[in-house]
Amino acid sequence: MRTKQISERKLRDKCPQEQTVNPVTTYEPDGNDYLSGATNYLREKGLLIDSPYTVPNMAPLERIEVSTFHVTPQSYYKVKGEKVFCHLCGAHRHNLGMVGALPDGTAILFGSACAKEYFGADIWSKMETLQESNIERANEEYRGRWIRDHIGRTTKWLELNDHLVRGLADAWRALKTHHESMTEELISAIIKNRGKLIETKDVFASQSAQHAGVSGRAFSLTNIIISLPSVDGAAAIDHIESHLKSVRRLCESVRNTTHPSIDDFSNWDKYLSSTIRASAKLIDAYIDFSVAIFANGNLEICGDWLDRRRVERLGDHDNITPRRASEILRRRVGYGFELPKDRLGDALPDFSLGRTLGRNAAKIFMQGG
Ligand SMILES: [Zn+2]
Repeated sequence: MRTKQISERKLRDKCPQEQTVNPVTTYEPDGNDYLSGATNYLREKGLLIDSPYTVPNMAPLERIEVSTFHVTPQSYYKVKGEKVFCHLCGAHRHNLGMVGALPDGTAILFGSACAKEYFGADIWSKMETLQESNIERANEEYRGRWIRDHIGRTTKWLELNDHLVRGLADAWRALKTHHESMTEELISAIIKNRGKLIETKDVFASQSAQHAGVSGRAFSLTNIIISLPSVDGAAAIDHIESHLKSVRRLCESVRNTTHPSIDDFSNWDKYLSSTIRASAKLIDAYIDFSVAIFANGNLEICGDWLDRRRVERLGDHDNITPRRASEILRRRVGYGFELPKDRLGDALPDFSLGRTLGRNAAKIFMQGG
C-alpha cells in the first residue's frame, strides 16, 4: 500500500491535469446527441475511461509478473496529456491502452503493443473481443434507454394518424369484401409490374410496307398506364394490422414498464431493430401506396384499365353489359385521404449514427470521439 501511495503522489505531481478529470460521468439523456450520450454511458459503466490512475485498486506503478490467463479486460483508456505507465514492461508509456483486472481485483495498465508481445497475439485478440462484447452489451442497454426517452414521438404519431390508417384499412376491406376479383386483379398486376399498370398493343405495318415484304405484325408497343409509389405497400395490405400491432406493442411495453431492467432495455433494442423498423417501413409504404391509388383521377385510371381488360377477356361480343369499374370502386373508397405530415419511420427512436458504435466504440473513443 505504501508503495502505491508514493507512486500515485509522484504521478499526481507529474501530470496534475489527469487527476482533475472526474472519472464518473453520470448518464443524462442528451437531446438528440446519441453518440456522445452512448460514449458517456460507456464511461459510466467503466468500459471507457479518461483517467486510468484513478481506477480503484490500481497496482503500484512497478513492473508486475502476471500469468497470461489471469487478466480480465476491464476498460479501454485514453489520455491526452502525459502518457500512462505500463505494468507489463514497466518501461513504455502509452496514450491508449487497457485496464485489466487480476483475480484478486488488483487493476493493471498496459498498451496494446506490449500486451500483444507479453500475452501473445491470440490471447490479446481474445481479450479485445471480450471487451468489445462487453461494450456491445452496454450499448444495447443504452439504446434501450434511448428508446424509452424517445418513444413518445412514436406514440404521438400513432395517435395523430390513427384516423388515416383506420380509414385506409376500412377502404381496402370494403373493396376486398364487395369487389374481390377486381381488387385482386388490380393489385396483383401492380405488384407484378413493380408499381405500374401496363398495356401492350401490337402495331401492324402499313399495307405498302407489307407489299414490300415487311411482316404484318411489326412490333408491339408498351404503354405505362399509371405508375404508383411504394409497391411494397401494396403487398402489405393484408398484413398491415399485424405491423401496427407490433409498433403499438413496443410503445405499450415501454410505457408500462415503470422500472425497466437492463434486460428490458436490451429487449426493446432487439425488438426495435429486428421487427419494428421493418414494420414501420411497410406501414409508410402502405400509406404512400394507398393514398396514391385512391387519389382523385388515379382510381379512375385503374378502373378504366380493369374495364378494358374485361372487354378483352370477354371478346368482341355485342351483348357485354357496360361496366364502369371506377365508379363501383370509388363508391367504396371516397375521396378522403391525405398523406401524413411525418413518416412513421422518422418518428421512431433514431440512433442510426450509433448503431455501429458497439463494435467500434474503442476505435471511436481512441480516435478522439
Ligand atoms: Zn509496456
